[in-house]
Parts: sequence; C-alpha cells; structure tokens
Amino acid sequence: MANCFASPAQSTRNLVSASSFPSSPQRPTAIIGSFLQPSKLRPALKRSLSTAPISSGNPRRFTGVRCELMDDARFMRKCVELARRAIGCTSPNPMVGCVIVKDGKIVGEGFHPKAGQPHAEVFALRDAGALAENATAYVSLEPCNHYGRTPPCTEALIDAKVKRVVIGMVDPNPIVASKGVEKLREAGMEVVVGVEEVMCRKLIEAYIHKMVTGRPFVTLRYSLSINGRMLNHLGEGAEESGGYYSQLLQEFDGVIISSDSLLKISDLPTSKETGANQPLIIIIARKDTSSVYLPGLDKKSGSKIVILSEKAIPVQPESEEIQTVVIQKLDFRAILDYCSTQGLCSILFDFREDDVGLNEFLEESFKERLLQKVVMELCPVWNATGEASMLKFGSQSLKLKDLQSRVSNGSTVVEGYIV
Ligand SMILES: [Zn+2]
Repeated sequence: MANCFASPAQSTRNLVSASSFPSSPQRPTAIIGSFLQPSKLRPALKRSLSTAPISSGNPRRFTGVRCELMDDARFMRKCVELARRAIGCTSPNPMVGCVIVKDGKIVGEGFHPKAGQPHAEVFALRDAGALAENATAYVSLEPCNHYGRTPPCTEALIDAKVKRVVIGMVDPNPIVASKGVEKLREAGMEVVVGVEEVMCRKLIEAYIHKMVTGRPFVTLRYSLSINGRMLNHLGEGAEESGGYYSQLLQEFDGVIISSDSLLKISDLPTSKETGANQPLIIIIARKDTSSVYLPGLDKKSGSKIVILSEKAIPVQPESEEIQTVVIQKLDFRAILDYCSTQGLCSILFDFREDDVGLNEFLEESFKERLLQKVVMELCPVWNATGEASMLKFGSQSLKLKDLQSRVSNGSTVVEGYIV
C-alpha cells in the first residue's frame, strides 16, 4: 500500500534541468514535425504559436520557439512520470502530475496521491513556495475550477502568481471541461493545451472511459501457446515482481476471475510489485457451482475478495476478507454495474483455459461492446495437451487498433484497443 500513502515527491525533488529527463525519442520529433507543417498543428498548439514571439525569416527566433516546445514536451513527460507514482491508488480520481518550472529548472513537483487528498498542483505549488511567482506550471490534466473535496486548483495557480500554464489535456469531466482553461486565461495567464496529449490520455484512459460512458474500462487478458491454444498458466516470471502480469495487476481497480479458474491455479491474482495497491478480486461463481475454493489466500497481500453469484455459496477457507454478493440475474452488465457502485474505474478480465464460467460473459461483452482493450500473452511453448484453441467466444468479428508488443521473460505480450 506504500504507493498510496507515498509523499507526493517533495522530499525527492532535485533541481534538474530539462535536458536531464529521460525522453521519448518520438514525441519531440512529432512536435517539431508539426511545427514545420502548420496545417497539421493541433488547434491548441496553433493558439500557442500564434501568441509566441515568432518572426518569419528570423532563424534564431524559430529555434527558440522550437526549443520551448521541446522543453514543454519534456516537462510534460515528467508530469506523467510523477503521476504514475500513484498508479492504482487514485480511483475514482485520475492520476495527475505537476511540475513548476522557473528559468528552465524544476522548482516544485507533485502528484495526486489518492482521492480525498490535495491535487497535484497543490503539492507542486507548496513545493515551489515563492519561486512559483512568474514560473510556468505543467500539469498533465486541466486544473479543476470547482469546489470538490478540495478548493479549485485554478485559484491556487492564480494566487501563486504563476505566469504560464501548460496542460496535457482538457478534463473529460463535464464539470471541469475547459472551464479551468477559461479561468486561467481570464486571469491573464498564457495557457497552452495539448502537449504530449496522447501520453496524457493513455495515462488516464480508464478515467476518461468511466467519465464518458459511466462504466468501468475493461481489459481482457489471456495467454496462448505458440500453437494457438489457451493456457491456464502464465509465462515464466509473469506473476513475480517485475513480471508483466504483476505490473499489470497493480494498474487495475479490480480483477475478474471465475471460480472454475481458481481450481486450476495455485495463487490468487495479486501484484508482487513493492507497495502495490492490490485490485479487488472479483470471483464469478456460476449457477451450478456448489462451493468456491480460494487457493493461496495470503492476508499479507492486502487483497479484498468479493464473490458474485446468483445464490449464497460456501467458501473455503473462510476469511473476513471475503464478501459474497448475490445478484439475482448475474450477467456482464450486472457485474459492471456492481463494479461502478464500488467506485471501480478499471477492470482486468482474467480469462484462463477453456473457462466455461466466463464464456457467456465474454460473449455478452463482445455483443454489447463492453470490452475496451485486449492484452494477450504469447508463451514460448507448444501445447500438445487439451483440446484445440478455446477462443470460442465472440460470435462477431472485431477490429483492434494501436497494437503494441513487447517481450517479457521470453513471452511476447501484445496489447491493443477494440475499435
Ligand atoms: Zn484540482
């Protein structure tokens, strides 16, 4: 749980120049490319450039603006890096990071640690103190302009006399959307919107989906052998600290697994990352399930467990950490409704070999387009046991986009978004 209660970074701050940040080679290139082709500029960048001190035919000015944009991108990546320190801890709020920059150096930084605690801007401004005056504030999500559990961050930025605000993306929350930007501009600040927007959107994709649809963001995960058969085990090292599955779990508010799958595995799905905030383990028990067995129940993991079924059901071993919820008609929509009432924004749908307990839910999720993302692990094994591929669900074809792959301990992990 350490991540959730970590100090938002003031103690670890150093005065660092922009050039010392780890940088993505793609983003600055994209920005420079956009700059060279004004017709392709995003509107927000156009606005920024239209007010920037550019003089055509003056290469020194051109270089200066280009460097400013590259610095903006670097500082925004730092915001995302900070925000991710609270991974898995902020729901139903989004992860947000903020840095205050003066004369090219970071003088304050912060992130939102968890719901109910101050926002990233507040921590960063506190960290900067008087140095925030005439500085630039970078924040991965539009500052709020409403009174929630905390006062508006727009007021905090105005009170601190920040000169310029660079924002990763506009807040999808209709209460906030663009009102924060308007408030800051009305106060006379220069405001730039849309820097490293793709990265900022990916950081809070579950929050955006929940805000727009009212439902949790659902990711389907499964493992395949090289000959295309579903596996009930994961690849080597995947569940250990640093493994892709352990890292993946800490990002989610909840993980769904069927009671049938529990009979085939030796441990409950828990992240082994240091300080990980464990997802709620949601066990789906089918109508004909007579009892639920929980393998490797480990109190030290801090996991909470809920069993969803259509009837009261005995559980072995018994534990205070386990709650049984009876839902009269247990379908996938009802499961997501339950998750929403619990404030869960992101769900990992963990599918194991020939999981008849989850097949019908997957079919429904495909039909009703309740899945948003797929993570598939291709393990370096040729599986000669069992039947042919059990990917029977899905009576309709779907397209995926933005596929990315990486190698993890010999397995290839592919992820993509359902169009
Ligand atoms: Zn705020």
